[in-house]
Amino acid sequence: MPDRPIYLDYHATTPVDERVLAAMLPYFTENFGNPASISHIYGWEAEAAVKQAREILADAINATPEEIVFTSGATEANNLAIKGVAEAYFQKGQHIITVATEHHAVLDPCKYLKSLGFEITILSVQKDGLIDLTELEKAFRSDTILVSVMAANNEIGVLQPLAEIGSRCRDAGIIFHTDAAQAIGKIPLDVQTMKVDLMSLTAHKVCGPKGIGALYVRRRNPRVQLASQQHGGGHERGMRSGTLYTPQIVGFRKAVEIALQEQATETQRLTQLRQRLWEQIKQLKGIHLNGHSTQRLPGNLNISIEGVDGSALLLGLQSVMAISSGSACSSAMTAPSHVLTALGNSEQLAYASLRFGIGRFNTVEEIDRVAAHVVSTIQSLRKQATFV
Ligand SMILES: *Cc1c(COP(=O)(O)O)cnc(C)c1O
Repeated sequence: MPDRPIYLDYHATTPVDERVLAAMLPYFTENFGNPASISHIYGWEAEAAVKQAREILADAINATPEEIVFTSGATEANNLAIKGVAEAYFQKGQHIITVATEHHAVLDPCKYLKSLGFEITILSVQKDGLIDLTELEKAFRSDTILVSVMAANNEIGVLQPLAEIGSRCRDAGIIFHTDAAQAIGKIPLDVQTMKVDLMSLTAHKVCGPKGIGALYVRRRNPRVQLASQQHGGGHERGMRSGTLYTPQIVGFRKAVEIALQEQATETQRLTQLRQRLWEQIKQLKGIHLNGHSTQRLPGNLNISIEGVDGSALLLGLQSVMAISSGSACSSAMTAPSHVLTALGNSEQLAYASLRFGIGRFNTVEEIDRVAAHVVSTIQSLRKQATFV
């Protein structure tokens, strides 16, 4: 059996940490109760686990437990935030602002709202992937009800200035939503100092299980109204009906707990690995770093490569590393990454791009093997294409 390729696609998803799995397991079997069952111990045990998770997750972003609404992940949280605000506030206004480099789970709900008659302003980004705060303020209107700007980009790792955006939105009386799917556990998040009103979270980008996430919904100063997008038993204070998935919620809690405990050391370790990879690859000519050089996720490296064909490159790398070009959702390669073209890359250069997502279980040896193989593959492809 040949070795499996080295996993370097931590922005797409991550393995579940063994410690997370161990915490989850009892909730499938012995403690299987429905947290909404109030008349017996099976329900109480599950309810206690959910309550603890809510407290720890709230604490992780400086919110209160009542402000955490569990969802199936960040896609659902984004949909609930954006459509939920649009439906609750449409009489106040029908204008929404977002950014060209957002995940499709933000852009597509906005597109859907546009089809219903809402007006959407899509801000462009600067060359480094950051939004221009003056442009943001210029886009504010009296009928703007929502601004949605992500915390950390899933392709180029760029960290948007949440506190600066939040204070501008608060001053203008506009609700501020941020998709923090890539950010939770990796960078400090504080909904108070950052003046965030809605924040989407997910577990599976931080060594937790797939299929669980949450939406933070601010309860005071201001109290955010949301129209439910899923009706039923009235769970999650009516905002998201459906029996809570206790094992996943416990896994989500444990994953975030571990990530926060290890955040300082992991940030340092991943930054070093990222730098080590970049130093080796950038020896070659015609390599461009996509996104801001320091204001980015520690484990993210995204590069565009001149003089190679994008699909030949991925093909040449895939026996050694599991990596993608652009996001997992768009790596079928039918269209170039909307994030990379928004940075000003040509379509061809956007195709010839690599997204390295380095994470918890990657080692120095792996990074060196990957770097050597990337360099030799680019060199041999360029030789074939007579790139000089
Ligand atoms: C992965 C991701 C999502 C989707 O999250 P799911 O939990 O898989 O639905 C949304 N936004 C960003 C930025 C992501 O990286």
